[in-house]
Amino acid sequence: MSDSCIFCKIAAGEIPARILYKDDLVVAFEDLSPQAPHHILIIPRKHIRTTLDLTTADNPLIGHIYQIAGKIAHDLGFAENGFRLVNNCNADGGQLVWHLHFHLLGGRELSWPPG
Ligand code: AMP
Ligand code: ZN
Repeated sequence: MSDSCIFCKIAAGEIPARILYKDDLVVAFEDLSPQAPHHILIIPRKHIRTTLDLTTADNPLIGHIYQIAGKIAHDLGFAENGFRLVNNCNADGGQLVWHLHFHLLGGRELSWPPG
């Protein structure tokens, strides 16, 4: 855990969030500034700064995050219509929070390519 990391604090229950799912490895909660009817952030409990900091030891964790994304999409009823799972990395990717996270977006048609 990083003492200054807002997502570590959410995972630890030290600051509030609308949590939709949690287990030993990951926590999923509603984004504060939703960009779609469903906008959920899925984070590892482990503090990993960016995608570039992943190691092979994290491969099962990333697979688990994809599994959980599909489960949440099913549970919330937008899996069949479709969704997007996005990870922003570093400045050009638009990363603002330095704890690895995946945006799960659904509930409306999403434009492509992104801006
Ligand atoms: P990114 O630009 O990929 O780093 O995305 C960071 C996301 O975190 C943004 O969509 C923010 O709205 C969201 N966010 C920041 N702080 C919080 C918070 N305390 N609770 C929920 N979402 C947050
Ligand atoms: Zn963190």
